Amino acid sequence: MKYELKVSKDKKEYTDATIERVGKDYARLTRGGPGDNSKPGQVDTDQWWVDVSKSTKSRAFKAMQGTPPVEKTLIQQAKDKDIFFCTIPFTQAYSEMHGGWKACCFAQREADGPRVEDTSIKDWMTNSDYMTSIRKEMTTINSDLKNVKKYCQRCISDEERYGRSRRSNCLKIHTNNPEFWDDIQKNIDMYKATGEWEFDQRIIEMQLKIFGSECNLDCHMCIHTNSSIRQRGAEKGVWSKKLWEEELDTDWEAQQRDFKLHGKDRTGRFSGSTQTVIEQVVELAPYIRSIKIIGGEPLIMKQHYKMMEALVKTGHAKHIFIKYQTNLTKVSVGKHSMFDYAPHFREVAVVGSIDGIGQTIEYMRRRTIWKDVEDNIRECGKYPNVVVDFNGLVSFLSVLRFYEVPEYVKTNPDIFQINWAMLETPKSLRPNNLPEELKKELIPKYREWPDIVAALERPAEKDFNIQEVFAYLLKQDKYYEGTKWEMHLFDVFPELEKYYDPTYVPEDDLYKTLNIQNNEDIL
Ligand code: SF4
Repeated sequence: MKYELKVSKDKKEYTDATIERVGKDYARLTRGGPGDNSKPGQVDTDQWWVDVSKSTKSRAFKAMQGTPPVEKTLIQQAKDKDIFFCTIPFTQAYSEMHGGWKACCFAQREADGPRVEDTSIKDWMTNSDYMTSIRKEMTTINSDLKNVKKYCQRCISDEERYGRSRRSNCLKIHTNNPEFWDDIQKNIDMYKATGEWEFDQRIIEMQLKIFGSECNLDCHMCIHTNSSIRQRGAEKGVWSKKLWEEELDTDWEAQQRDFKLHGKDRTGRFSGSTQTVIEQVVELAPYIRSIKIIGGEPLIMKQHYKMMEALVKTGHAKHIFIKYQTNLTKVSVGKHSMFDYAPHFREVAVVGSIDGIGQTIEYMRRRTIWKDVEDNIRECGKYPNVVVDFNGLVSFLSVLRFYEVPEYVKTNPDIFQINWAMLETPKSLRPNNLPEELKKELIPKYREWPDIVAALERPAEKDFNIQEVFAYLLKQDKYYEGTKWEMHLFDVFPELEKYYDPTYVPEDDLYKTLNIQNNEDIL
C-alpha cells in the first residue's frame, strides 16, 4: 500500500501523523498550502488526500502500487500524476472585474470569451467549451492537455519554476477536508458516468470581482484597474512605462480612452447589472458552498452587502462560507459592517493580503496603518465563526522581509492559516530580480519554504533594470511627501540603497514630473 491515510474528526484538527512529522507550529503554518517537499518541476503529492473520510479511505485503498493507470481511482491517478487534475474546474465559477468568465484568478481567459453580461453562471459552468474541455482533459489519462496548456499555463509554469501552484494548494486543501472532498467526489462520479457536468452538490465557490475596484490602499505592485486609489495616482503621474506598459500592452491614458469608448466606468468594470448576477447567485444558493468577494477592497464596496442581504433571506446563508480577499484595514463602510452579516453565515474567512509586518507593509501597501490591521484581527477573533487567514505576495520588496510573516502567524492564535503566491505581474517586481548578493543572504531565512528558495535561486528576468524599479518606487515616495503616509524606500529597505544610481534617467519621460498641485490631489 503506497499512501498513509488518516481519518480526521474535525477539519480544524491536524492529523497526529502530521504533528509528529513536522510539529504543531509547522502544521499550523502549512495547512493553507505551503511547506511540502515540492521542487521546481516536481510537485510533491504526498500531502494530498491524507485527512480523509472512511469512504474515501476505502476507495483510495482499492488501488495498490503497480496498478495500471486506467484501473486506478481518480485519487491515485492524480497522486501518481497520471492526470493533471485540479479541483477548481469542478468547484469554481470566477468572473473578472470586466465581467469575463475564466476558471480561476490564475487562469487565462479567451479575449472574446463568455462574459457575465451574455452568459449566466449556470451556462458558463455547464455548457461553455472552456470549462467542458478542461474538465475532460484533467480526468483523462494520456490527454494532450491542449486546452489546459492554454488556460492553466500559470499553474504549469509555477510548478516548473517553484514546485507549487494554485492547483497544488487547492488539491492539498480540498482533498484534506473530508466533507468537502466527498461531495466533490460525488460530483465527479456523476460527471464521469454521464459525461456531463451538473450542479448536484453544495461544492461551488463563486469568486466575484464584479463589485468594482473601489479601494483605500495604493499597493505598489497592484494592477491599476484593481484599485481606484491606484488609478488616481497613475493619473497624477505615478506610473512607469517600463513596469506597466510592457505588461499591459497599453499606457494608462490609452486605457482611459478605451474605457470611455466602451461605455465602461474608468475601472473597466463590467457594463451589465450587478443585480442580475446577485439574482443568479441566489438561484444557485443550494449548490453554493462559498463565495469569495474580491475587489478593490470588498469590505468598503457597498454593493456586495446587497448580495449578503439577499443570501440571508434565502435561508441558505447558514450553509455558506464567505471569504473576503481584503487588506484588513477596514471592516465596515457607512451603515454596513461585516460583523452584522457574519453570524448568519456558516463561516466568514477574512483573507488578508498580508505580505509584511509593521512598516514593511505600510510602505509596500501604502496607506496601510498596521495598528488598524492588528485591531481588526483582534476584532475578528471575538466572533466564533470568523477566521483570519493571511495570503500575500512574495515580490521584489516583500521577499526582503517576508520571513517575518510566518513568525508573526506562529505567535498570533487569531490567524487560522497562511498562504502566499509569487508575484507574476509586473515582471520587474518578481523576487528573482533582487541583486544576487541579497538573494544569497535571504535563502537561509527561507529554509522551510522551498518555493521561495526556488524563486530566489532563479536568475533575474531578461531586460530587468533595477533603476527602473527604484525610479517608480521613489516617484511614489515623492507623491506621498507631506502626507500622513510619507515614507522613504531606503529608510524601510536600507539594503537596497547601494544599488541605486541617482544619475539614471528612467524610460518614462512622459511622466517624469508628478502632476501634484497640493495634497488635496492625493487625499
Ligand atoms: S490548474 Fe491552475 S489555472 Fe487551471 S483551474 Fe486549476 S488552479 Fe486554475
